[in-house]
Amino acid sequence: MSSSTDITLDQRAEKLRDALGARIVFAGDPDYDAVRMPWNVAVDQRPFAVVTPESAEEVVAVVRAVTAAGLRMAPQSTGHAAPGLAEAGLSDTVLVRLARLRGVTVQPESRTAIVLGGSHWNDVLAAAAPHGLTALHGSAGDVSVAGYSLSGGVSFYSRAHGLGINAVRAVQIVTADGALIRASADENADLFWAVRGGSGAFGIIVSLEIDLLPYADVFAGMLLWDASFTAAVSRAWATWTASAPESVTSTLRVLHLPPLPELPPFLSGRSVVVVDGAVLESDERATELLHSLRELRPEIDTFSRIPADALVHVHMDPPQPTPAVTRHRMLRALPEDAVAAFVAASKDPGLFIAELRHVGGAAARPVPGGGAVSAVAGEYIAHSVAAAPVPEAIPGALAAATAYVDAFEPWTGDALALTFLDGGMDRAPGFGASLDRLREQKAQWDPRNVFAAANPV
Ligand SMILES: Cc1cc2nc3c(=O)[nH]c(=O)nc-3n(C[C@H](O)[C@H](O)[C@H](O)COP(=O)(O)OP(=O)(O)OC[C@H]3O[C@@H](n4cnc5c(N)ncnc54)[C@H](O)[C@@H]3O)c2cc1C
Repeated sequence: MSSSTDITLDQRAEKLRDALGARIVFAGDPDYDAVRMPWNVAVDQRPFAVVTPESAEEVVAVVRAVTAAGLRMAPQSTGHAAPGLAEAGLSDTVLVRLARLRGVTVQPESRTAIVLGGSHWNDVLAAAAPHGLTALHGSAGDVSVAGYSLSGGVSFYSRAHGLGINAVRAVQIVTADGALIRASADENADLFWAVRGGSGAFGIIVSLEIDLLPYADVFAGMLLWDASFTAAVSRAWATWTASAPESVTSTLRVLHLPPLPELPPFLSGRSVVVVDGAVLESDERATELLHSLRELRPEIDTFSRIPADALVHVHMDPPQPTPAVTRHRMLRALPEDAVAAFVAASKDPGLFIAELRHVGGAAARPVPGGGAVSAVAGEYIAHSVAAAPVPEAIPGALAAATAYVDAFEPWTGDALALTFLDGGMDRAPGFGASLDRLREQKAQWDPRNVFAAANPV
């Protein structure tokens, strides 16, 4: 970061306008409010300026112009992780939105895809499905591949296939000196290690090469009961997951659904308990595995063989920008007392979602040759989401989200999952033992700390 004080912010803005013309939007410009808003609309992010490059060359021009003006910059693809970024304070930071840098090329022979830096998982799934392939995506199709994959990426495929981060083969990245370079196991290997965990703190990813998975279809779906069944369902799910093979990845959730006209009438305003996930087995074996849960006679049962690109809809994440706060903890185990804690804590109507994600398996095994983060230590993620439709609602929402995860204190491990970190949380446990080396790499690749990120190192 430039230490020069002899140049005013107006002069810096002038330099940026000279270099980038109408592509850069400042506070006060007519488009500023439209381009600055993130997906998580609870965050009122107000960067110094916003620029939306459309090509790798434009990203290079942006990085050079911003550094020449002595300002910082923050890559953002969708703003799903906006709370963490806003904490950095954006008054001297240019937001580099990658929303127009989208596109996917599938290479079926090598079962890989080249994904432009701002692409969403929906883009990858649409491109991969015609080849009978899919990807290690998360539960929401409008999350970006770069933001998710380079911070871990917990998928319904993760107990069998590990975190999304290990599917990244190479990145094309614009670094702080304005160079567009490739980082892979063979080129700039230190940077490749660092960016797999360090993500946007190391530069702007203009494309990634990722491995795809050989699934055209998958046995997946959800089981839903009224929330009055939470105790029985939770006990059964805990027993089930304790012995489930790694081919099964699932979640248990209590949803307190608001009375909204866009919800089906039988769900609107109701509290329900849901088990959803994927079973990477034959129909016969999957049916056998699901038997103990189906015995509890769910009101809705959608588990069946579905096209792999439909898996992204199973978790029913909101398709539109949503104001929310979240908290999470990694749990070492889920004994009976922890199940009782879930049943009690999930009742809070101040929560939108009280969730337990089953991880462990391949998701918890560090990968030889992996990056700064290649696994997440723990068997379950306790995760809460509380709606914050207006700023005044944020303190109450945070209190509810925090009380839920605090209920799991006795079973909480040291780690945190980087993709689930939210504003106001300590980032260090997300990087674990890699943090010191990440900081050394940051000092080498971005010595003036020009890149701000949702999860700074
Ligand atoms: C509804 C919802 C569902 C989710 N489901 C899952 C899930 O199933 N599994 C899971 O693991 N996580 C999940 N997440 C968390 C999500 O993966 C993280 O918030 C992720 O960081 C979002 O990435 P993004 O790019 O879309 O968000 P952004 O806020 O745009 O980006 C987050 C950070 O990623 C970096 N970044 C993004 N794009 C680039 C780029 N092109 N170049 C350099 N850096 C970049 C930046 O550092 C940025 O600060 C979910 C989040 C939400 C809100």
